[in-house]
Amino acid sequence: MAFEGLAERLQGTLTKIRGKGKVSEQDVKEMMREVRLALLEADVNFKVVKQFIANVREKALGQDVMKSLTPGQQVIKVVNEELTSLMGGEQSKIAVNNKPPTVVMMVGLQGAGKTTTSAKLANHLRKKHNRKPMLVAADIYRPAAIKQLETLGKQLSMPVFSLGDQVSPVEIAKQAIEEAKKEHYDYVLIDTAGRLHVDEQLMNELQQIKEIAKPDEVLLVVDAMTGQDAVNVAESFNEQLDLTGVVLTKLDGDTRGGAAISVKAVTNTPIKFAGMGEKIDQLEPFHPERMASRILGMGDVLTLIEKAQANVDEEKAKELEKKMRTMDITFDDFLDQLSQVRNMGPLDELLNMMPGMNKMKGMKDLKVDEKQIGHIEAIVRSMTPKEKQDPSIMNASRKRRIANGSGTSIQEVNRLLKQFEEMKKMMKQMSNMTSGKGKKKGKG
Ligand code: GDP
Repeated sequence: MAFEGLAERLQGTLTKIRGKGKVSEQDVKEMMREVRLALLEADVNFKVVKQFIANVREKALGQDVMKSLTPGQQVIKVVNEELTSLMGGEQSKIAVNNKPPTVVMMVGLQGAGKTTTSAKLANHLRKKHNRKPMLVAADIYRPAAIKQLETLGKQLSMPVFSLGDQVSPVEIAKQAIEEAKKEHYDYVLIDTAGRLHVDEQLMNELQQIKEIAKPDEVLLVVDAMTGQDAVNVAESFNEQLDLTGVVLTKLDGDTRGGAAISVKAVTNTPIKFAGMGEKIDQLEPFHPERMASRILGMGDVLTLIEKAQANVDEEKAKELEKKMRTMDITFDDFLDQLSQVRNMGPLDELLNMMPGMNKMKGMKDLKVDEKQIGHIEAIVRSMTPKEKQDPSIMNASRKRRIANGSGTSIQEVNRLLKQFEEMKKMMKQMSNMTSGKGKKKGKG
């Protein structure tokens, strides 16, 4: 994911100060020098860096921090807060017009991800906000843009309004909104044309669409991989169109990410969403505070929990919790868990959200081997119901049968059995701890 280099450097710098019981002015100065370099190296705009450093320094040298009991940690808190505010502070939600439809105009350079993001956003609005969106194909210049949107629409069973490429985009927008009113769509997402560079003709056309469509949102789609150029692009679009928000795409790539951080600061336009991959559901609302803690290695537990809530069956989770307490967890439960976790997304992405994970030796470059997980699943599926309930009956011939059945080896079967036992042991310890507390209070 983006920001990896920045995260690594900042975390390295912050570790030095974290445990300090006393922080001198010199310590802060040195730290700020390193933070400054880290930000510049990550391609954060230099003006933005200057302001950021000034803010952090002032707060870090304040009495509250220096005289506190844990100055090292307080300094990190200041960095976290400033980074959060740099990226926008509070999360900025998408507009809702109480006289539907809410009109959203998607703008940006060619290749930034406008068309893909329009479809992703429509999907998000329907899935997470229960809305009824309509997509509008108003990019009549890029060959295949209309087709691309129609294909995405079909894939999502989402209506796409199109008049082909011979009608002006202004007219398309106008008719689309009329249609949306008639058919009671509550969001209209207009996919406009892009160019390779900002040019006057494009801006004129976009301004005309804006005049007719009177959008509630003008969202600029910016490719996070384009570095400082992203900042310049955002500035010109903002001057001409008065943006209401930015969507950063391709944050899943290994960009340095700094330009992304600067966009908000330079244009004073909130980042509303982040594209985290090519798939239709890989669009996330942008939470500055969560992104800041991801960068500082504090993890993004909230997003993790949200993913879990969206994917994990609550009844099953409760049942499992009960089983864990009574220790009768079986391989069937294990299989259930495995498939629920897999629904949440690629495992290495999930691991990245866990606090401290990237600091653990060897974890940073960990690529979870999805194939190996497939093996585990195959092994469990090759067990008989009795074996799943009670693995203690497992003998050599049973193991051989399972290995053959799952296309794995006896070693792999052994390894899994051992891991399962260890997991049970760990659960027992945990449940002893919690139930121990409960008993003293007279609750079971
Ligand atoms: P447009 O010209 O602005 O409409 O750009 P497209 O929507 O056609 O996107 C250009 C390319 O970027 C396509 O290959 C998309 O799949 C890809 N893309 C868009 N968003 C993301 C993202 O968040 N992550 C990744 N990895 N690729 C993306």
